[in-house]
Amino acid sequence: MAQYDVIIIGGGPGGYNAAIRAGQLGLKVAVVEGRETLGGTCLNVGCMPSKALLHASELYAAATGDEFAKLGIEVKPKLNLAQMMAQKSESVTALTKGIEFLFKKNKVEWIKGWGRIDGPGKVIVTAPHGAEMTYEAKNIIIATGSEPTPLPGVEVDHKRIVDSTGALALPEVPKSLVVIGAGVIGLELGSVWRRLGAEVTVVEFLDRIVPGIDEETAKTFQRSLTKQGIKFKLGSKVTGAKSMGKAVELTVEPVAGGEAEVLTADYVLVAIGRRPYTKGLGLETVGITPDKRGVIANDHFKTGVGGVWVVGDVTSGPMLAHKAEDEGVACVELIAGKAGHVNYGLIPGVIYTAPEVATVGKTEEELKAEGVAYKVGKFPFSANSRAKINHEGEGFVKVLADAKTDRILGVHMIGPNVGDMIAEYCVAMEFGGASEDVARTCHPHPTRSEALRQAAMGVEGWTMQA
Ligand code: FAD
Ligand code: NAD
Repeated sequence: MAQYDVIIIGGGPGGYNAAIRAGQLGLKVAVVEGRETLGGTCLNVGCMPSKALLHASELYAAATGDEFAKLGIEVKPKLNLAQMMAQKSESVTALTKGIEFLFKKNKVEWIKGWGRIDGPGKVIVTAPHGAEMTYEAKNIIIATGSEPTPLPGVEVDHKRIVDSTGALALPEVPKSLVVIGAGVIGLELGSVWRRLGAEVTVVEFLDRIVPGIDEETAKTFQRSLTKQGIKFKLGSKVTGAKSMGKAVELTVEPVAGGEAEVLTADYVLVAIGRRPYTKGLGLETVGITPDKRGVIANDHFKTGVGGVWVVGDVTSGPMLAHKAEDEGVACVELIAGKAGHVNYGLIPGVIYTAPEVATVGKTEEELKAEGVAYKVGKFPFSANSRAKINHEGEGFVKVLADAKTDRILGVHMIGPNVGDMIAEYCVAMEFGGASEDVARTCHPHPTRSEALRQAAMGVEGWTMQA
């Protein structure tokens, strides 16, 4: 029987990064992955295909709207949806093959098939052709990820009522699309189809969009999406769906009570969150019981059962690829006797719409609730020369710093390219930086990054360019 130092179940960002790190550290490691390709949700049906469509649809919208015309570029664009989908799939294939290459480079074995734990240190894998094989490992890392949360009464039929995977591959541009859930998936994929011409209505249970994100940023975001033609029905719940061949009828009720209304759309996207995936994993054979939401609890990635570890979407914390990656690396470092660590206070969140939204650290609402005295520095992109010259003046950078020590506590941005730029503040905050550190750091001109510096200057009231 094959013996390993580490067997990882799941080849997504949590699992594949754990595996590469294990290979680097000289551990004998294998990844069990049931999908035909590596990369998990993120590469196959998540982060990457959604970004491919966001990129392509953003350019299409720029060409069809007044953006290109304003720049003096006159074109008559024609949508080739099949080609847009094909280039997405080609990029995804290249990325998943890239993980196979990294596995070979780092001596990681890919065991193809679905794995289940069979008591301490044992994993049984059912190969694609049905044969079962048992493997032994000193350590098992559960990295099985998550799946879309179903909505009772609105059954995903993968035709007209779809989840995120379906919404990444619709066969046509819907005339009308109802998105259930104003979270990250709903707004990213809602944006894609809006830009390609669909009438998009987002139905959200709460009275705000993107819960958890700084309120002022969320309000600015909603205004911007509304300007782009997305309609919102907040404080509303969908109580039923009826498929009518080429259309779907949804019954929507105000959460606060009142008359129900019927919305008709040719497609519906259910995006009300994701839940941990542990189906058929044999957790009972080692005495692990997930909580009510299906989450496997952890303490520094330990499940509480000797030799069984857990990382990524299947455990607690934000369901983000970079969080899963950091956990995978830290978990393997602990297994190898090193000091693996994840700073959960500094996991950035980005929404890849236009404008982008990027946040890290505490929100104003959190600081108020914790009774922390803080100062605010804010700078609008309308006053940033590069953003202005590019006609991208929407949004702002907001820096929250401790009123006494000036330590940066949170940063919330909406605007052009903020998803990339947030990393500057992640580094500053990881080093325990103060707003003055950023304010006194030379930034290249003319870049949108100058807005990050001007906002930091604002904490002590010396913003110079607004
Ligand atoms: P997963 O990526 O879900 O991987 C788990 C893998 O385990 C899967 O491949 C599965 O097949 C395999 N598996 C499960 N059970 C078994 C078993 N028993 N045997 C063998 N294999 C098994 N996050 C971001 O940070 N940025 C984004 O822009 C972003 N965009 C997203 C867009 C969409 C549409 C979606 C759905 C998600 C997005 N996410 C994004 C979230 C991100 O995809 C997840 O947080 C991330 O993939 C979690 O990684 P993971 O390794 O924990 O799990
Ligand atoms: P989410 O948790 O971000 O948002 C779900 C939304 O649905 C919330 O606003 C919630 O209030 C609402 N909701 C819940 N039940 C509802 C109901 N019955 N009716 C109407 N609204 C309801 O979940 P998601 O958008 O499905 O995304 C899932 C996960 O994937 C998230 O954790 C997210 O972090 C991750 N993701 C990340 C990115 C990114 O980083 N850019 C992109 C896509 C997905």
